[in-house]
This record gives sequence, C-alpha cells and structure tokens, in this order.
Amino acid sequence: MKAEDDIYIGDGGLEYCSNCHTPRQHAIPNSIMGADFKVHIMCKCQRSRYEAEQAERKEREFQALVAGNRNICFHESRMREWTFENDDGKNPMIDKAKAFVANWDEVKHKRAGLILFGGVGSGKTYIAAAIANALLDKGLRVLMKDFAEISNISIFDSEEYVKSLSDYDLLILDDLGAERKSEFAMQNVFNVVNRRWESGKPLIVTTNLSLIEMKQLRARDDIQYQRIYDRIFDMCVPLCVDGVSKRLSLAENKCEYMESVFEKGGTL
Ligand SMILES: [Zn+2]
Repeated sequence: MKAEDDIYIGDGGLEYCSNCHTPRQHAIPNSIMGADFKVHIMCKCQRSRYEAEQAERKEREFQALVAGNRNICFHESRMREWTFENDDGKNPMIDKAKAFVANWDEVKHKRAGLILFGGVGSGKTYIAAAIANALLDKGLRVLMKDFAEISNISIFDSEEYVKSLSDYDLLILDDLGAERKSEFAMQNVFNVVNRRWESGKPLIVTTNLSLIEMKQLRARDDIQYQRIYDRIFDMCVPLCVDGVSKRLSLAENKCEYMESVFEKGGTL
C-alpha cells in the first residue's frame, strides 16, 4: 500500500492522511439522526497532486494549441525555426522586433503595424517570422502569407478567404511587390489589405522595394496602387535597419509611438 493511501482516525473521529496529517473527511452535523455525516475531502497532499495534474493538463492543451496555430501560420515548415532565440545577432532590427513583441498589448491597441523593408537577404522575412513565432508562443493566432499567394486567390473562394483573415491577431504579408499585376490580382490584394484595415488589427508587410519605389508606386496614376499603398501606410510604420522612416507614413503619430516602443524595449 502506498504511504499516501494510509489513514488513521484522528480528532473528531475523522480519517486523517498518514502522510500529510490533514483530514480526509469533513463532518456535517445531522440534527435528525444525531451522528454527524462524514464526507470525503482531499487531504493536502491529494489536493496538491490534483492541482499539479490540472496545471500539467492545461499546459499540454496550451502547447497543442500553440503547435496547431504554428502549423497554420507558416507555409514553409523551416520558418517555425526562425525565432529570436535562433537569430545570429547580426541584424540590428531584431531588437526593434523584440520590442514590438514585448509591447504587443499596447501595439495592438494602437493598431500599429510595420513595413519591414530592405534589400534581398537583409533578413526581413526572418524577422517577421521571429515576431510571428514569439506571438504564437504567447498563444496568439498569427498568419503569414505572401503577396504572390493572396493575389492569386480564386474568385470562388476570395470572399470567404478574405473574411477569415480577420480572425488572426496579427497578419503578416511577405514580399510586397512580388504580387501579380493584373487588375484581378490587384483587386485581391486590395481586398485583403482593406479588410485588415477595417478589422483594426495589426499588419506587418515585408518588401524588397525601397522607400522611393514605394513612394513612386503610391503616386502612380492608378487608383488600385494608391488605395493599396494608402491603406498599408496608414496601418504600418516603415522600418529599415536604419530605423523608422517618417517620410512615407501617413500615420505620423504611429511613427512617434513606435519609436517610443523601440526605445522602451522590454523582456519577452
Ligand atoms: Zn495527505
């Protein structure tokens, strides 16, 4: 017999645990029959074991949820490994990305997103994925898609697909500029970006385009481009390795706010 199953009769004729010496029974007075009712209760060691099991079960459920959300988030499985922990420390933008995550509740409230821009190989997509992984670890829902993919949505499922994107706490759209340029494709991109704008939830965009190129596209005599870029610049603060650029953003107050978040930093 296990020690914790051993009992003895103690005060008030109640059963006590031989291990922790706290009662396993509780007496309820019985005015009709005279003798007390005795009901079973957990002793201290049974209760702590029960609570530990509950905590373990909750943790297992949470980890299953996180793993499920991570599978949905990334179209490439290697991106699951693109984390702050696995970063080589060469990109100074990483600290700003960490500050973005550390101040997530506030960032979300301010509806402030980022445009991560820089040349090919500058690590923008890695940084975006690291932000995604850190937020996924907190149990949040994140989706990372690329512009080429969203511009190719079939006309038959575009409405439902676009609607479903509002469910995510953070949407990351990779590689602005790589989308197809047909009217249909641009309409799809606008639908997704506009839906995000309406949802009031943060968006992160990555792009190889320079600030000048983005500015030129926004100034093009093409209403589709203007509408897409206006929405993106209203939601997102441009961020290069050199820091926030205020030249392009329509949201000056968000630029200043984001600077204060980067300065504040924080632990994950
Ligand atoms: Zn006990």
